Amino acid sequence: MPNIAFVNGRFMPLARAKVSVEDRGFQFGDGIYELARTYGGRIFHLQEHLERLDHSAKAIGLSIVYSRSRWKEILEKAHAQSGYPEAKLYIQITRGAAPRDHSFPKKSRMSVIVTVRKLVPLPSELREKGASVITAADLRWGRCDIKSVNLLPNVMARQKARSAGAFEALFIRDGLVMEGAGSNLFAVIRGQIMTPPKGPAILPGITRDLVIDLACGARDAFVEKGIPLEELYGAEEVFLTGTTVEILPVVKVDGKTISNGRPGKTTLRLYQQFLQTTRP
Ligand code: PMP
Repeated sequence: MPNIAFVNGRFMPLARAKVSVEDRGFQFGDGIYELARTYGGRIFHLQEHLERLDHSAKAIGLSIVYSRSRWKEILEKAHAQSGYPEAKLYIQITRGAAPRDHSFPKKSRMSVIVTVRKLVPLPSELREKGASVITAADLRWGRCDIKSVNLLPNVMARQKARSAGAFEALFIRDGLVMEGAGSNLFAVIRGQIMTPPKGPAILPGITRDLVIDLACGARDAFVEKGIPLEELYGAEEVFLTGTTVEILPVVKVDGKTISNGRPGKTTLRLYQQFLQTTRP
């Protein structure tokens, strides 16, 4: 089954998809992206992903390319062509190809790309035992709420994690834990579920919002609050959220065992609630 791409209006196998070396995404990282996934063959929370795409586009001065219904059509068609029952769908939009100059080109056509890849679930052992994570200095810029294709600090931090045998790296800014290189962070501390507040320092995760709704619906004690790293080490529970990780228990941070070293009960209960929401 092929990985599929949609490039500026045309569908093709991913292996044949190309953009110019003059593309500003390649030259400057001047672009944005989104990642959505399917459950039961249907794209999950597509409207929320498209809203965040609009937010990112507006923030970097890109115009809206397609209506929500046109996006849905394109993504569904690309997914159908791939033949993958469950897939990851990436949207990437850059300011297009133009002679190299930092300022916006007077004339350029945005590059609009969709790619469809097979969704490979996380190993069940990782989910059952929980993940180890490390921490890394947050070297990212001041607008982490924009889902920009500039991912070098995330790439470096994730590689640091891999080299240390860890699953994810958590970004630390001013002594506070922000989020993972590709996930949001939650902890249970003194019986209260906590996650850092939305703002320019984190990506407003679609899964994060859903988990907050689930926690509030279950009348859990919940607060959006900065989490000092020292408090995270002593947390009762820690977990990551994201489109691909869903809700993933964390049992070690920087080699320090969290609580009894096993996935916590609130994390597991939220994951069960999450499964009911996502699995048709
Ligand atoms: N933070 C970062 C930095 C991410 O890359 C991601 C994954 N897109 C997330 C959080 C989680 O967001 P979502 O739940 O929308 O996948």
